[in-house]
Amino acid sequence: MPLTAYSISAQKEEDVGQVLKRLSTEFGECIATVEAVPEAWRAFMRQDLQCPCCFVTGAELVKEAHSKARTTPVRQACFRFSNPKHREHCDFDSTKTANTVPENLVAFSDSNSAITKAVRELVGTGIELGLFSQKSIRDMREWFFTKKTQSMFVVTLDPRFPKWMNLLYRQKFYAKTVEGVELTAEIVMNPKFKWHAAAAREQILRHPEFQAFLDAFNNKRNAFMLEYNRMGTLARRWQGRTVFDPSLLEEEYRKTCQLAEFMVKNYKPLKFATSNKGITVSSVLALAALLMFVRDWDQDLARSDFSRITEVAGNSNQDLGNVLGLNPFHDFRAWQALKAVQEFGVHVPEYIDLKAERVAIEQELRAKFGAPPIPVE
Ligand SMILES: [Zn+2]
Repeated sequence: MPLTAYSISAQKEEDVGQVLKRLSTEFGECIATVEAVPEAWRAFMRQDLQCPCCFVTGAELVKEAHSKARTTPVRQACFRFSNPKHREHCDFDSTKTANTVPENLVAFSDSNSAITKAVRELVGTGIELGLFSQKSIRDMREWFFTKKTQSMFVVTLDPRFPKWMNLLYRQKFYAKTVEGVELTAEIVMNPKFKWHAAAAREQILRHPEFQAFLDAFNNKRNAFMLEYNRMGTLARRWQGRTVFDPSLLEEEYRKTCQLAEFMVKNYKPLKFATSNKGITVSSVLALAALLMFVRDWDQDLARSDFSRITEVAGNSNQDLGNVLGLNPFHDFRAWQALKAVQEFGVHVPEYIDLKAERVAIEQELRAKFGAPPIPVE
């Protein structure tokens, strides 16, 4: 159940409190609690308010809930869409998402982070300059929802695989240090000889399927190693479920990242706030994607819009920036890696313990050359 809904008549996104405040003005009657809302208002809301993700109408208000012991609400007031139901693949089409913000949505109103504050200022200024509006932000979400439903795949990757893959890459690193070195009695007696590297090389040679995997993704190694943890989490969480295939947005992702880089370099508060965090911060990407979206992904136009915003930013009406933005590229690289690996169809027998096997091979090699076994630490 989303915390906010989009009003077709007001062309903006509001939470329950904001909707009641606006309708109080429009209907000339002050009503502040969900229980007191008259049927006429409810009927109006059913056709005026849309789900922020899948855009069905039929909204019903759900009042906030308190636990017996606590005075703070356990659930904030929110919107229920049950007639008609959410469209398939809507982020809110699950009881698990009651009262949560899906990870790809960015609440610019969050005032706890310096980055979000800087971005909200830019969003507010952009709206004041008429470069985009709450409606464009809504339209972008609809664009993304349509893209998403056009391109889905089912997650089947074994969640243990990414961690195993990361270890395999490490073995490959070891193996590389002895590439082309032929083992002889003389070489292995050199005190600098690295037995574990020789063992790692032998291990990969013994498993042609390991080499096939390494060859297939040779140029993706760094990206995969960066994302392996997230890949495992996603594979576990979404196992057997249908998810968005991000490869469809590769071009948009590339362009958005370039714009985000430009933004961070050219707006001091953003540069300062994002130091060391890179440009993949969700709120920065959400704004960059919005600037690109309203300009039909034309980088030059988006860049000049951004420059116009930064020329006057600093005094915007903060309420304007209180919207829910969308970062269509949340976990983009991790999803891409997951899908690529899954499609490759890795069959690793029982995910053998790479380290244990490498140690066993090292013992074997040592024995072969009459060297003492691995010293006990
Ligand atoms: Zn929905």
